[in-house]
Amino acid sequence: MIDLSNSNTGLWQEITDGCGDIKNCFTCGTCVSGCPAAEGEPPLLIRTLIRKVLLGLEDMLLEDQTPWLCVTCSACEERCPMEASPFEVCLAIRRWQSRKDETYIPAAITEIFETGHTQAVGQVKEKRKSLGLEEVPPTIIKFPELLKSFQEMLRNTDIVKENDYMFKG
Ligand code: SF4
Ligand code: SF4
Repeated sequence: MIDLSNSNTGLWQEITDGCGDIKNCFTCGTCVSGCPAAEGEPPLLIRTLIRKVLLGLEDMLLEDQTPWLCVTCSACEERCPMEASPFEVCLAIRRWQSRKDETYIPAAITEIFETGHTQAVGQVKEKRKSLGLEEVPPTIIKFPELLKSFQEMLRNTDIVKENDYMFKG
């Protein structure tokens, strides 16, 4: 059972700050069914994130790294029947998490540095094969020399410079 005794009832206003009307969300799940990150590990379940926001589960939401797995395709936004703006909410949660803790570095950022992707794309070889696709997509995962250049570029950003102990490669 979820403990609501410490819930922050104003959390949805603090986070969404005018993007969409998440109070319209009736948990239909349409946003999740078309989300490419919903099949990841851990899965990004935008509907569940919206529930956490509405219930004011601040601590749980602050620990939740799944908003950083969003690949910003905007499919959920287009498909939501209630104009609840799930994609905008996902980005708003990221901003809120970063505001709450300016030292916050989501695991997804180190994943991008190490692999060039936010998702473990190398783990879906069987699925790609069953769809008649190349086992490895023609992205940075297929071109290790590009990954080195990409890492060099990231080394010039403040977030990597200031936290270089987290970025080996
Ligand atoms: S955000 Fe929209 S699509 Fe997603 S569960 Fe809520 S109403 Fe359904
Ligand atoms: S925008 Fe993000 S949350 Fe929405 S469907 Fe795409 S990956 Fe999923």
